[in-house]
Amino acid sequence: MDVQEYRRWLGVLESANASWRESWNAFAIDDSLCVDDNRAAAALSALEKRLTENYPFFHPRYAGQMIKPPHPIAAAAYMMAMQINPNNHALDGGPATAKMELEVVADIAAMFGFPQHLGHLTSSGTIANLEALWVARSLHPQKAIAYSTFSHYTHQRMCGVLNTRSVEISALPNGTIDCNALESELKKGTIGTVVVNLGSTSVGAVDPVHVVVPLCRKYGVRVHADGAYGGFFTLLARSKSPMIDHRPFLAVAECDSVVVDPHKHGLQPYGCGCVIFRNPSVGTLYKHDSPYTYFTSKELHLGEISLECSRAGASAAALWCTLQCLPLQSDDGLGLVLQKTRRAALRWSELIADSEVLSEYLPPQLDIVTYYPSTEPVTMSRVGDLSRSLFDQAMNRRERPIYLALLAVDASRFTTLHPDVLSDKETSIVLRSVLMKPEHELFVPEMFGEIEDCIRGGLQHGS
Ligand SMILES: *Cc1c(COP(=O)(O)O)cnc(C)c1O
Repeated sequence: MDVQEYRRWLGVLESANASWRESWNAFAIDDSLCVDDNRAAAALSALEKRLTENYPFFHPRYAGQMIKPPHPIAAAAYMMAMQINPNNHALDGGPATAKMELEVVADIAAMFGFPQHLGHLTSSGTIANLEALWVARSLHPQKAIAYSTFSHYTHQRMCGVLNTRSVEISALPNGTIDCNALESELKKGTIGTVVVNLGSTSVGAVDPVHVVVPLCRKYGVRVHADGAYGGFFTLLARSKSPMIDHRPFLAVAECDSVVVDPHKHGLQPYGCGCVIFRNPSVGTLYKHDSPYTYFTSKELHLGEISLECSRAGASAAALWCTLQCLPLQSDDGLGLVLQKTRRAALRWSELIADSEVLSEYLPPQLDIVTYYPSTEPVTMSRVGDLSRSLFDQAMNRRERPIYLALLAVDASRFTTLHPDVLSDKETSIVLRSVLMKPEHELFVPEMFGEIEDCIRGGLQHGS
């Protein structure tokens, strides 16, 4: 996605909505809104300069956190709609984008295999999960919500917001929920809903949803799938050659609710999460009687079933337009993008198997790779020091820097996975790369070689 392409799509904006605007009789823009040209140019150029303080999220050399720019189509669509600034809180706030929201949510629900659904876009995965947990609490007010140690930290926080008891279930060394520990907890009869991860944020661990669902059914417990990061990998799971364990993703169709973040793997700008319930009757939980917002339509509007009030209609427009161009298909559109990110991770895994200077921490289940510099003897403290040094040195290379991320891991988990590691400390640090750009597939061998060079050149301690 180069700058040219952005310009090309953003160029569409010059004429966007022009004839529609011109169909309304002209009026003078109020003086109070007028800004001096020089001042505007100075402010914009100062902004441009300040934005260079960012890491190059757009470039494959950025292989750190879960961040990348939106697709140019999404950016253009967002800006086109934003010039009108519809608000999807109610039908009269944005009739056009309200319809688009219904359409994209139906597409996502179909991807997960829900026969019927009720759902909407949110401003983030956290808010989407909050809503699922709020429904969980409303349906089982006396019971707790369970999630694994490796669930996103916001689940615990949101249980606090909801004033609901939560139970943390231990995880296996690979980061997936321990089903035996879960069952012991379920037997107590105090859990109302279990949260499963469709890819944990730290290592991309996918809980065995296909095992958890029948287990929870046995005890009359609900299941919520948190696919904020990994939900779109369902496209790969439905492919003829899945490249991932497809079973957990196919079992989402049996879950009670699911969350996915279009602003993570759906090529969208920030401000786009999505929550979907399998049983549309949860809509009755959202009763309210605001005198001014909701009297405009007889049909259910998505603003009525949202914890949030104002929501950017532009987000719905951006996602709608993106899915017109890159549909939710396994071997085309967004599926093709995810195939490449997955292949990038698999390629990384192959390279590390033959590497003398890097070791794999966990095999990637989706597109997050975790690794550390090989050392002799391998102690937790040395692995941590070397990982930190590699992180710094890769980023501070004078030419061709590489941006990685760090992950804290605890000793018992580390030594279970790697019995050769001497546990001289309670925690250690390894490296983590989210290979979430399709360009990573071709770039991985080169980047991997450069990271190895960095290590061979000597890692300075405490740098
Ligand atoms: C990112 C993430 C969240 C939080 O979503 P935001 O959009 O950042 O608020 C929740 N759960 C998982 C698994 C995530 O990866």
